[in-house]
Amino acid sequence: MIFAKSAKDLDKMRAVGELIAEVREILREMVEPGVSTMDLNNAAEKMIRDAGAIPTFIGYHGFPFAICASVNEEIVHGFSKTAPMKEGDICSLDMAATYDGFVGDTAITVPVGEISDELKQLIRVTEECLEFGIQASLVHNRIGDIGWAVQQHADKYGYGIVRDYTGHGIGRLMHESPQIPNYGRAGTKERIRAGYCFAIEPMLNLGTQETRTLSDKWTVVTLDGKPSAHAEHTLAVTADGPEILTLTKEQKRLRQNGQVEIATA
Ligand code: MG
Repeated sequence: MIFAKSAKDLDKMRAVGELIAEVREILREMVEPGVSTMDLNNAAEKMIRDAGAIPTFIGYHGFPFAICASVNEEIVHGFSKTAPMKEGDICSLDMAATYDGFVGDTAITVPVGEISDELKQLIRVTEECLEFGIQASLVHNRIGDIGWAVQQHADKYGYGIVRDYTGHGIGRLMHESPQIPNYGRAGTKERIRAGYCFAIEPMLNLGTQETRTLSDKWTVVTLDGKPSAHAEHTLAVTADGPEILTLTKEQKRLRQNGQVEIATA
């Protein structure tokens, strides 16, 4: 069952989306060589709680941290660590907050200092794939159109598209129906309707798409040990098109003024 949100629900989704987007951008600015993922986790937890919200990840099926911090070959669900990150690393930061009964979920992959051109491209293409997925989130399209939009772009670069984890519906719960794979066939699966809210989150690997889970039972890594990038926004489907909910006030302003470069097919 996919829940369409009411106008009132959408206002609450907007509020929590902006809240977690502000946290994400502060974490992005904090990342540099010498900073640990535990530093980022602690900062995120404090910011979310200070805003009167709940860090949704803590205790989710027993997950122990406010953010998922996944460095280099870690894809998703990484544990925060006290060891400092190093120049040349890439760090995926995935976070969610619950506020006034609704959840916002977002992720970025951030370079630690100067990184290789190969990794810059991996991050850029992951963000472009997210944008393609968002732009396919249109009334009367189908869920398969989102997966296809992501896949057709990632495939141009030969990246491994993670199949084992997907995007998802979102609302009162972090994970609602439907699942939103990052691959698929256009015109297949559930029809998209106004009021649906999705978290779209491509995970692209420099090498194989295959994954394994570490003995901590959470951290998912690439099977071949090559790096992986991740990007995620929460959005609402409206009659006028997709509305990204996890943007800061400033990012919304820049988009409205057309000052953001958006990937096009
Ligand atoms: Mg998610």
